Amino acid sequence: MMNPKSKDCVFCRILDGSIETDIIYRESGIAVFRDANPQAPVHLLIVPEEHIATINDASGVIVAECMEAAKKIAKDLNIAENGYRTVINCNKDGGQEVDHLHVHLLGGRKMGWPPG
Ligand code: 5GP
Ligand code: ZN
Repeated sequence: MMNPKSKDCVFCRILDGSIETDIIYRESGIAVFRDANPQAPVHLLIVPEEHIATINDASGVIVAECMEAAKKIAKDLNIAENGYRTVINCNKDGGQEVDHLHVHLLGGRKMGWPPG
């Protein structure tokens, strides 16, 4: 069952146009826009159109579609060969701040490990 868009969710409001944001890719239920507080030269958020709070609530198909979009965009932006990082934060210990499933796509610099 499709969840309704949440009026309290910042990403739902970006997706419905009530928060103006440049959406750089939108196809097959997936949208991509720049993170407002970028942590790397490339820092994009890959977001399903459907309001799903966390990866715990998501089907494997939706997660796979987000990751396929991340791969495609990394290739389009010419960071695929040098490399990049995808991150899904989940809930409190994972550092999730926006409760609408999203994949961070980070690239354009060498990433450190382990993450904080
Ligand atoms: P989380 O910590 O939930 O994994 O990541 C949420 C991300 O959303 C953060 O990196 C934050 O900078 C970004 N973010 C929060 N509010 C907005 C917004 O209104 N617009 C955009 N483009 N990004 C946002
Ligand atoms: Zn939402």
